[in-house]
Amino acid sequence: MKILKKINDVRSEIKMAKAEGKIIGFVPTMGYLHQGHISLIRKAKEECEYVVVSIFVNPTQFGPKEDFNRYPRNLERDIKILKDEKVNLLFAPETEEMYKEGFKSWVYVEELSEILEGKFRPGHFKGVCTVVLKLFNIVQPDKAYFGWKDAQQLIIIKKMVEDLNIPVEIIGCPTIRESDGLACSSRNVYLGEKEREKALCLYKALKKIEELIKKEKIYDCKVLIKEGEKIIKEEGVELQYLEIVKIDNLKKLEKIEKDAIILGAIKIGDVRLIDNLIISEF
Ligand code: AMP
Repeated sequence: MKILKKINDVRSEIKMAKAEGKIIGFVPTMGYLHQGHISLIRKAKEECEYVVVSIFVNPTQFGPKEDFNRYPRNLERDIKILKDEKVNLLFAPETEEMYKEGFKSWVYVEELSEILEGKFRPGHFKGVCTVVLKLFNIVQPDKAYFGWKDAQQLIIIKKMVEDLNIPVEIIGCPTIRESDGLACSSRNVYLGEKEREKALCLYKALKKIEELIKKEKIYDCKVLIKEGEKIIKEEGVELQYLEIVKIDNLKKLEKIEKDAIILGAIKIGDVRLIDNLIISEF
């Protein structure tokens, strides 16, 4: 596996791979890799002849009071995982390589960036879209793989790619969970034993809502959300939002319909966790 830190070196490698007619698959990450990331890499390996992974904790997507400085990092461990997965190229730039002094250009997807996560993390998706477009321009992948775990991010990136005619196919991959249902996340390492147990309440709330829809045939979203909220409040956990929206445009639903998604965010102490569940059929 090649490990590169400079944009120009990545460009040269990709040029060679493309000259050999290879399909380039790309998995952007912030590192501290877990099974969720690995599932994206394996999907990319299945579909592409040359797989690039990036590890970059992007400062512009963190708010001033967020966890940029303490975000978990372990490049040595990540490199071992990526070598085992037979990734072709790791791009792990320094902040200065990605954001030169005087950086002034931003990408912003209106409306979709202002709701749900956007309400609690102003500017977050502007940072995400900007860095993802930069990475696309550097790696020039044929296909890029993103997790449904970050559903709003995936939907916004799809919109950006469509609106700006970016020549890449975006592939959404299912959320990978630990054995008890907690969605894999680099941030799970922040959780102590008790907090880890409490964290499960968001997934329990999502599953309860799914059960009410599928078994009890309850389709009124207000009623469903109330039931979900109850589970989270009983656990004494701070709920930031719990909403049921249409999956393609994130518009709030009053009544359950096909291709709905239930999205939630909780905060346990300083640790913020998100999760979601897709209701394709009911
Ligand atoms: P991150 O390193 O958290 O920025 O995530 C990098 C990519 O991995 C994003 O596309 C995430 O949506 C995806 N991802 C993170 N956690 C999971 C998970 N539990 N299951 C599937 N994909 C995930």
